[in-house]
Amino acid sequence: MSGSEREEARRAGGPGGARDVIAIDGGAGTGKTTSAARTAERLGFTYIDSGAVYRAIAVALRAEGILDPDDARVEGAVRSLPIELRPEPGRFRVFLGARELTGELRTPEISRLSSQLAVRPEVRVRVRALLREAAVRGSLVVEGRDIGTVVFPDAVLKVHLHAALPVRAERRQADLRRQGIDMPAGEVSRDLEERDRRDSTRADSPLRQAEGALVLDTSRCS
Ligand code: C5P
Repeated sequence: MSGSEREEARRAGGPGGARDVIAIDGGAGTGKTTSAARTAERLGFTYIDSGAVYRAIAVALRAEGILDPDDARVEGAVRSLPIELRPEPGRFRVFLGARELTGELRTPEISRLSSQLAVRPEVRVRVRALLREAAVRGSLVVEGRDIGTVVFPDAVLKVHLHAALPVRAERRQADLRRQGIDMPAGEVSRDLEERDRRDSTRADSPLRQAEGALVLDTSRCS
């Protein structure tokens, strides 16, 4: 991170910065969404699901016929996408132009494509800017992979969640079932492992534990 970027991050999320940020990071299925949404509700903070922004970019690029994360058109397209985080009481919603993106974000295909696109620095720069812009407007609980390490390195509290793979796969399988998608446990588990590997090994802001993070294992939590 450059000096000016660090300064921008500090202004956006640290103590004495514009507002307070609580960062909750971890792999898929570790319980980030439940923890972040409930923490925000209790504290009167606003919740942001940063993964939904990566997913929204994947939905938008897919609609433009871009299915290959290495496609040369990604850089230009991601810069001009009309993606917006709109504040509502309690949470930010993700819009593409006038349309709110919700259910379509959570399909297995979009899980895969968003994680492939998240490797690209142009994509990460755009999402970071959206998140930091949001932080100027209020105190936040933000969940993701790089929130405590890169997006808001001066967050007032950083939490890193873990859970055993079979538990995470079971949770993800139940989420999919609720959306009417039946996926065998083995396939869900392989998808999670593949995303974890990609998220933890990419060069730009990989998933790793932030210094000073509170580490929690949610394997036995409901
Ligand atoms: O959190 P969720 O599983 O919805 O995120 C979808 C994908 O977006 C992740 O697999 C990851 O590749 C990417 N992501 C990221 N950094 C974040 C949040 C999500 O790279 N802060």
